Amino acid sequence: MKPAASSKKKAAILGILAGGFVFWWYSTPFPWLGGVMGLFVGLFTFCTLNTSKMERLRRPFFIGLAIVVLVTLAANILWVGYRSFLIWVEAWHAGYYLQGAAQTGTALFPLPLLVPSIFLGKAEFLLQDSVWLTGQPTSLASFFLFMIPYFLTLIIFERAFCGWFCPLGALPEAMVTGNKERWSLSFLKKTSTATSGFRIPNPAGITVFKGWVEWVKYGFLILLILLSFLVPFSIVNIITPALWVKSIPIFWIGIILIIVLAIVLPFMTKRRVWCHVLCPVGTALSLLYKISLFRITIDKMKCNECMDCVQECRSYSLTPEGVERGWPMSGNCIRCARCIESCPEDAIDITWLGKRPARAPFITLIIVTSVSWYLWFAVLLVSYASKLSEFSGL
Ligand code: SF4
Ligand code: SF4
Ligand code: SF4
Repeated sequence: MKPAASSKKKAAILGILAGGFVFWWYSTPFPWLGGVMGLFVGLFTFCTLNTSKMERLRRPFFIGLAIVVLVTLAANILWVGYRSFLIWVEAWHAGYYLQGAAQTGTALFPLPLLVPSIFLGKAEFLLQDSVWLTGQPTSLASFFLFMIPYFLTLIIFERAFCGWFCPLGALPEAMVTGNKERWSLSFLKKTSTATSGFRIPNPAGITVFKGWVEWVKYGFLILLILLSFLVPFSIVNIITPALWVKSIPIFWIGIILIIVLAIVLPFMTKRRVWCHVLCPVGTALSLLYKISLFRITIDKMKCNECMDCVQECRSYSLTPEGVERGWPMSGNCIRCARCIESCPEDAIDITWLGKRPARAPFITLIIVTSVSWYLWFAVLLVSYASKLSEFSGL
């Protein structure tokens, strides 16, 4: 694989731009954090743009970001004590519910139940004090203002979110280390129709799922959307481990699901099964792939159909059929760039709308965006520590 940047000078310019933005972004709450993060992002971007072994940098980055959040959360709990933490969870959880007008609009995540009130202009815009002023916007204008960064991130990166900065994807990602596929789930797969499929030792491992398997994830997504309009709290919060500690059965169901879907199945199949068979967020994002800006593209003039890329893809995205068609993208592609690294002919790349090569700007943008979003979350957790201390000793 050729490095993403055509020269060290270009990589250095993009590294400086990336580091400069992150320095500015983090300097507002903590100047020292701005300096550290700006330096890290600048150097990391430069190295990632210059290497031909990108996977060695992307995976530790992706997994490392999730570890930062987990460590921060654990440090918060240790600092205030577990009992105080539970009291805080209780208070925080209560804020999600609509317990009368005074409570409306204090949740930290968009609440579908509030949308009609927002559109009817019957809701107010409330602010909460934090490191930054944050809140649940409940007026129409502020709602859209609040949602713009979310929408922009998802539209620009679509499922690249799953390959670079989703906190829940880091564990299955760690489990797909190595090449030994122990279970191909072939009973859930279609038979390969590709003429070049015979070159792959185990074609069942890489062909697409049967139709009904695909529909399970869409059904799950529709169910959750319907549910989110019926329950009086933000449905996204059911994935918050802080809330699981409130209920022992929910806690153990959560633990079992994590062990089976995020550890055992990815380890056995060497594919991120949960992410591509069930996760509603991944399913929703996969619907955007036809309008994705950054696409995986194969140059058919260079491709010799060796199928090395297909075996390397851990996301059920590349198939022999897709490679033969020369249109390999599917909604499962997380832009990890494994296939680019594995191609002996340099035939694959990330392009802008399937045309111009755009790997360097893509990598720069996604590093900056992921650090900006993700560590912003970590800083928020640090800020919660001060709020947690209010519950200390209770
Ligand atoms: S599929 Fe879901 S859990 Fe997996 S990385 Fe994407 S959003 Fe995260
Ligand atoms: S690894 Fe490269 S040459 Fe081989 S099938 Fe994939 S795109 Fe074609
Ligand atoms: S197609 Fe390539 S970039 Fe997309 S998920 Fe598969 S290996 Fe990663």
